[in-house]
Amino acid sequence: MNEELSNYWMPFTANRAFKARPRFFTAAHGLTLVTDDGREVLDATSGLYCVNAGHGRREIADAIAEQARTLDYAPAFQFGFPPAFKLASRLAALAPGDLNHVLFATSGSEAVEAALKISLAYHRARGDGSRTRLIGRERGYHGVGFGGISVGGMVANRKAFGAMVGGVDHLSSTYSREHQAFSIGEPDWGGHLADDLSRLIGLHDASNISAVIVEPVAGSTGCLPPPKGYLQRLRQLTQEAGILLIFDEVITGFGRLGSAFAAERFGIVPDLICFAKGVSNGAAPLSGVIVRKEIHDTLMTAPSAGPDYHVELFHGHTYSGHPLSVAAGLAALDIYARDGLFPRARSLEARFAEIMMQLKQSPHVADIRPIGLMCGVDLFPEPGRPGAKGYAMIERTFHDANLYVRIAGDTIIVAPSLTVTEDELVMMRDRITSCLAAL
Ligand code: PLP
Repeated sequence: MNEELSNYWMPFTANRAFKARPRFFTAAHGLTLVTDDGREVLDATSGLYCVNAGHGRREIADAIAEQARTLDYAPAFQFGFPPAFKLASRLAALAPGDLNHVLFATSGSEAVEAALKISLAYHRARGDGSRTRLIGRERGYHGVGFGGISVGGMVANRKAFGAMVGGVDHLSSTYSREHQAFSIGEPDWGGHLADDLSRLIGLHDASNISAVIVEPVAGSTGCLPPPKGYLQRLRQLTQEAGILLIFDEVITGFGRLGSAFAAERFGIVPDLICFAKGVSNGAAPLSGVIVRKEIHDTLMTAPSAGPDYHVELFHGHTYSGHPLSVAAGLAALDIYARDGLFPRARSLEARFAEIMMQLKQSPHVADIRPIGLMCGVDLFPEPGRPGAKGYAMIERTFHDANLYVRIAGDTIIVAPSLTVTEDELVMMRDRITSCLAAL
């Protein structure tokens, strides 16, 4: 191993293989990542699904720099920083229905922990404190906190970390290759799987269940669009049972599916929305939860709130609403609105799907699932060596094809910036095709 690299224990990385043959980026602009040896690599996954307006946006860099010079940090508790209130209003305006109260954090994982905790505190404040169970879904990804891995359903993220948070159950995954392979958008088959919630209600009773958390499109597991009718049914069942519905929109927010939030695209008003990533175009750590008015108001007015000088919700971070992150967030939202990037994503969707589906001709491809501007391409795993082909693709795309694309296990996930051109989409397809042919 290269000794100079040994001190940094890299996140979600095959450290031994990386350090034997590293991959470095040192600059970026548009959809281009520049390597340490000066090569221009095409970014097919918006960094990690966060650079929705493309890299190196001048307005965001300027806003961060200006903010750093003016006010680098303001205490987040009991004192305010005006632009954070402005950003909250902007986000409330983008969110559906009466989701109009925003808590800030810095990572998607923290947003998830906050949403889960708020659901518990809300029921308790209403005098319904037996509602403590949390329901996630198999193959879900909700970050790396204990709450998130507990409601999450990706086994590799869970298996080494003990017994998890208690009182958690999971809906079954919405994916079936047998019934859904090579579907474009929402698969026709599988809407009935939302009724798995009825099974869990039958098992635990609704009076013990606090919240259901799902990604509208499961992202990190490999892009699994919801089957037709699934999310609508889940909303109906949760509503009838008094269970809160949390949409984890850390990936699907800010235009990935052609609207501000996936909730809008699917015509659903969840109770809480977790956001991160695209909110700041990835330029500074920023995340949060948007909460329905009734939940917020309950926590403000219930007897548990106490007198006015009491803190109503004992939750927050030193860096909640950090000035540099807020500056980045405001500048990113300005770009999305000014450049019409959410509708742009929507208008590119059909062509994107068509181009991605052409990968079907390539060897190794087991399924392709495009929706919005995201797409999972499953490869058949090498017998007895799951993930080996995926890792080979990480190396090949980067070293041989000047392409960066996120790979999870044996699934390629294409999710370009919303500024992507058709030519760039074709280039992504062609570079993936050549790497698959050489695999
Ligand atoms: N939730 C979802 C749906 C995500 O996709 C992610 C990250 O990819 C997270 C939560 C965690 O976000 P972070 O890595 O910022 O903690």
